[in-house]
Amino acid sequence: MATMSELYQGVILDHNRAPRNYRVMEDASCHADGFNPSCGDRVTVWARLGDDGRIEDVSFQGEGCAISRASASLMTTAVKGRTREEALGLFDRFHELVTGTGGADALGKLAVFGGVSAFPMRVKCASLSWHALRSALEAADDQTGTPTR
Ligand code: ZN
Repeated sequence: MATMSELYQGVILDHNRAPRNYRVMEDASCHADGFNPSCGDRVTVWARLGDDGRIEDVSFQGEGCAISRASASLMTTAVKGRTREEALGLFDRFHELVTGTGGADALGKLAVFGGVSAFPMRVKCASLSWHALRSALEAADDQTGTPTR
């Protein structure tokens, strides 16, 4: 059983203190807000999609606990350059990890969130930015009609 102090290990503390891609994106293709009422975390995620459907750039801003900020920061670094399908597949595996139903295979640095599975209250904190990303990508589909590949 992980302790709370083990959960707040180096990578999470680092990304909370100095979040990556923490900015408003002026030329975004899409964006979406997320809110986690059980903790009070708020996040906005922006993404710019290339003609080939890849996520050329992704950024976020928000207020919330260390887990939500660090997770949003690591999410942006993990999905940049990926296709939408790859990003959503990564979300599925990440969600399995934090809910304790899957392992950390192929998740890279996201594996540090494996400890969250011992703290059910924190699962929403860790997945908030991913839900916002998925909403943003779905909003982009609505704007362009059927998704192109
Ligand atoms: Zn939180």
